[in-house]
Amino acid sequence: MEPLAELQKHFAEIHNLNQASAVLGWDQRVCMPPRGAEARASQLATLAKLAHELFVSPETRDLLLAAEEKGNSLPADSDEAATLRRVRRDFDKADKLPSSLVVEMTEVCSLAEEHWANARKENNYAAFAPWLTRILDLKRQYVQAMGIPAGRVLYDVLLDDYEEAMTAHTLDPLFAELKAATIPLLEVIKAHGDVVDPGIATRECDEKLQEEFCRRVLKECGYDFDRGRLDRAVHPFCTNFSQNDVRITTRFDPHWFAGAFSSCLHEMGHAFYEMNIAPKYEATPLAGGVSLGVHESQSRLWENFVGRSRPFWQHYYPQLQKTFPAAYGNVPLESYYAAVNRVTPSFIRTEADELTYNLHIILRYEMEQELLNKKLSVSDAPAAWNDKMKRYLGLTPPTDREGILQDIHWSGGGIGYFPTYTLGNILGAQLFAAATRALPGLQGEISQGKFSSLFEWLRENVHQHGRKYVPRDLIRRATGQPLTLAPYLTYLRTKFTEIYKL
Ligand code: ZN
Repeated sequence: MEPLAELQKHFAEIHNLNQASAVLGWDQRVCMPPRGAEARASQLATLAKLAHELFVSPETRDLLLAAEEKGNSLPADSDEAATLRRVRRDFDKADKLPSSLVVEMTEVCSLAEEHWANARKENNYAAFAPWLTRILDLKRQYVQAMGIPAGRVLYDVLLDDYEEAMTAHTLDPLFAELKAATIPLLEVIKAHGDVVDPGIATRECDEKLQEEFCRRVLKECGYDFDRGRLDRAVHPFCTNFSQNDVRITTRFDPHWFAGAFSSCLHEMGHAFYEMNIAPKYEATPLAGGVSLGVHESQSRLWENFVGRSRPFWQHYYPQLQKTFPAAYGNVPLESYYAAVNRVTPSFIRTEADELTYNLHIILRYEMEQELLNKKLSVSDAPAAWNDKMKRYLGLTPPTDREGILQDIHWSGGGIGYFPTYTLGNILGAQLFAAATRALPGLQGEISQGKFSSLFEWLRENVHQHGRKYVPRDLIRRATGQPLTLAPYLTYLRTKFTEIYKL
């Protein structure tokens, strides 16, 4: 067997272990009885350990070296060269990491998550602070083990795990500009807040009918139920065990149909990405979405740029009125459209609207850097959080529960993760603008409930490539431009100026 084929075969075994973990993870979050938790944690740990050991084994190193030697004359844009680049990158990262640090990080983070959950419940930041200190310290050790490449900063090393080759140097000016544009826009919107009736979105809708409606729209957008499922989960997510088994979840609340519906479209966007990667990449190192930011661009594109647009509701609103006549029979389309796009500052990131969401992210992005660089101490962090909330959103969290303790990410070691959410919004806008240029009839199609040309454009330009190109190159190929904020700013200004009659 050729060295590359042998490497692929070896990799497919690791891939299978990871996909088996994903099945157990799905089961845990969707249907496992509570007392199954302890055994499940141990099963997942065993599978993760086996996959990690296989990946950092001398066998991987030897197969990789042999394949690289044989492959050094491959064309740079071939699948084979891309495969070798991917495995080399991931292998070097894993190889640089001392196993003592891996063990310590795993243990500390799992304990920290528990302490965070209690601290949040009891609104006791002091109980979480020592854990945050330990995690920041471990993250600094991690960066030291990885080494900071020339011209990069500490934060870039963490960011690279979620968004390959992204840097603070690129994000800083982008986020600063977005912040500078959002804060004054938000001020004007607040002064015009009475344009939107907040009660519209919370009218009672039967849960069973909500689910039927969601399923129908998912299908019409192109979600293939022969290759997927919709289930319920407390925190909606998407997971996949192969290209032909990509599952999504949502949660239903009789007084929050818009929440369930948005979650469906969001997770569907993630699912489309995983379902439409070129079949030849299945179970290879090129399988899967290329980065968190690009993945999030797909979910946001369907959730917001399509699913919160006027053309979309021009098509679906009459059907919604028919499904829920008591709630919406007498509400005009324009009022419903404004209600699902309502902008209002709030404390909790996951409940934030499309515009203020980014301010929540920018706050966390800035604080992560300050904490890692020791410009901010862990004990001063809650005050710094509240100060930023006041300056960006005009709100002061009444307690740390509604402030610095609200997110699970830091306790699990996810530092450098948050910016990918806003990056997803920016990329989503850039990709949607490119699709709109390529498909001049797109808005008209959406207003007729036709999504196949958008679906096909995304498959062709983004999904099919899997992990072949680094995010930067994928975006440039798909949109003809490097990462740019302009389409997102135009979108936000146009949309909210119009809705709030500014
Ligand atoms: Zn998402």
